[in-house]
Amino acid sequence: MAQEDTTSESVAGFEIGPIRPPSEAYSLLIRATRNCPWNRCLFCHCYKGTQFSLRTVEEIERDIDVAAAVRDQIVEASTRLGFGGDVQATAAALLSQPYGDQCLRDVALFLYAGGQSAFLQDSNTLIMRTPDLVRVLRHLYASFPSLTRVTSYSRSHTAAHKTLDELKEIRAAGLVRIHIGLETGYDPLLEYMQKGTTAAQQIEAGRRLNEAGFSLSEYVMPGLGGRAMAEGHVRETARALNEIRPEFIRLRSLHVTPTMPLWSRLQDGDFQLQDEDDVVREIRGLLELLDVTSQFKSDHILNLLMEIEGTLPADKGNCLAIIDRYLSLPDDERLIFRLGRRMGFYSSLGDLADPGRHERMADALRRIRERGDNVEDVIRRLKDGFI
Ligand code: SF4
Repeated sequence: MAQEDTTSESVAGFEIGPIRPPSEAYSLLIRATRNCPWNRCLFCHCYKGTQFSLRTVEEIERDIDVAAAVRDQIVEASTRLGFGGDVQATAAALLSQPYGDQCLRDVALFLYAGGQSAFLQDSNTLIMRTPDLVRVLRHLYASFPSLTRVTSYSRSHTAAHKTLDELKEIRAAGLVRIHIGLETGYDPLLEYMQKGTTAAQQIEAGRRLNEAGFSLSEYVMPGLGGRAMAEGHVRETARALNEIRPEFIRLRSLHVTPTMPLWSRLQDGDFQLQDEDDVVREIRGLLELLDVTSQFKSDHILNLLMEIEGTLPADKGNCLAIIDRYLSLPDDERLIFRLGRRMGFYSSLGDLADPGRHERMADALRRIRERGDNVEDVIRRLKDGFI
């Protein structure tokens, strides 16, 4: 395979925001707005200290044009640099280089995955004026004819304030999927976490997005209730999801860092974390109460058990069995698995059966204890690195 440097003629860059959902790892990232217009959720640090701003349609279209020029450059390089016109191989070679312009890598990743998906950043694209968003979508599809889907984040509060006709117009222009941070359907917890919405509004927004024809992806945050509100969190989140009936239910477990407002509540004892096994029990409780036909996904690195995935209700029994298998492990085996997951040695429970990795993790646990370190502190610091 040719290994020449294809980055040397990179055209000018375009803006890329800080985050996207894990499922959009291979999507072309186009920044439609900057930061978060709400920015008050206690468990979120993504945009703290930043100011929300809309971007003009002209600015966004210019970025799309630049991304398209980068795409053209990679396509041209696929012939010029000896890849025989194989764009995916050219993109792979680009991505294998340790350094590189972020915009070039964004487009290369998109092309490497087949060039079919784009994600509009940042946190709440539906806040754009509907005609502006429609113009951006049309320009994006015209500039990237290989696209089959464009997705984005929205707040429930914002989606609930768009008319059904507006949502249908946006859907018809090609916004296919909306990712919403439901987090919880429990009103006291939504209020405590300053989420700025209610369960009723989340349900209304979800139903309206479904009716408009969107693929709806709802994020749930296991652990968010802490010790005090765990039971209400599970019960009311299941109730909200059963009413919304989203296509996807995705888990993103709570992890609190000093960069989040929730940290100070943790320090002064107002909020108490559950231990990780209790969070697993919470997910079990949620699954038991769910009465939906949804894809259940555990695709965030902060989740302990990434393999509890499937189509509900058919795969519910299998998901529960995985959880029960974990919970029935001896105490030290669960600790070895948690340590191995956070150190990157394990990706699923089945990995525990590998004697080499098990010996390394058991040895790591022994050394942590010999040093007199707190194992939970070590695991927490490892998780800090994930966000
Ligand atoms: S609405 Fe979303 S991005 Fe904004 S503060 Fe809350 S969780 Fe963070």
